[in-house]
Amino acid sequence: MLSDRSKLERFAEFLRNAERIAVLSGAGISTESGIPDFRSTGGLYHTTSAEIFDIDFFQRHPEQFYTAIAPVYRAILAAEPNAGHLALAELEKRHQKRVMIVTQNIDSLHNKAGSSDVAEIHGTFRTLTCLNCEKQFDAVGFQASLATGAVLCCPDCGGLLKPDITFYGEELPFAPFAAAQRAMWEARLLLVLGTSLVVHPAASLPRECDSGIPYVIVNKTETWFDDRCDLVFHDSIGKVLSDVSEFL
Ligand SMILES: [Zn+2]
Repeated sequence: MLSDRSKLERFAEFLRNAERIAVLSGAGISTESGIPDFRSTGGLYHTTSAEIFDIDFFQRHPEQFYTAIAPVYRAILAAEPNAGHLALAELEKRHQKRVMIVTQNIDSLHNKAGSSDVAEIHGTFRTLTCLNCEKQFDAVGFQASLATGAVLCCPDCGGLLKPDITFYGEELPFAPFAAAQRAMWEARLLLVLGTSLVVHPAASLPRECDSGIPYVIVNKTETWFDDRCDLVFHDSIGKVLSDVSEFL
C-alpha cells in the first residue's frame, strides 16, 4: 500500500508525462459544488418518479418534469466550480496539457471553470429545443421560468420546449459522444472522477482507451473499476487534485 504522499507523487508523474489527458467526470465532482446527485439516495430519481425523465411521459405531462426539475435548476444556477473543476482548468492553462473532459453532468461547471474541451454526453441545460419546430434557444432567456417550474413553450410556434439534457428513450447527443470516444482513443492518461461507472454507455468508455496507459480514479466509494486502475483515491476530488498540483 502506497502512502498518501507517494501516491500523490506517482499521480503527479503520470500528469507530467501525459500530454493528452482524458477525464471522465460524474456526479461526484458536482456534489462538491452543492449540486445533488440525481441517482444517490435522496436524489431526484428517488424523491420523484424516474419517469419524469422519460421522453414519452414528458410529452404528456411536461408540468411534472418542470416542477420536479426547478430546485435542481436553481442549484445549478447558484453553483460555482470547486477546487476539482479549477484544477482541471489549470492543467490546461498553466501546464499546457490537452485536457479532454467527458462529463455526465449537465451543470456546465467544467465550462464555468474555464476548461475549453468539454464533451457533455448527457447534454446540457444551457439550451432548449422545441419538440415541434426543432428550433434551439439559449436557456438564459428562460431562467426565471425554469427556476419556478413553469412549462416552457416555443416563442415561435407554441410547441413544447425541452431542455437539451438526455432523457430515457433518447439517443445520446451524437457530437459529444463522438468527441468522448475520440478523447479515449487519444488519451495518454485517463482520470475517472466522481463516477462509479454504472450508467451506460459512459461506463463502457474506458474500454476505448489504450490499455497500456495509466488509469487513475478518484471517487468517494469503491467501484468495479478500481481493480483496473494504477491509482485509486477514495477521497474528495477537490482535495486530491489540489494536493497533486503541489507536486507539479
Ligand atoms: Zn417551435
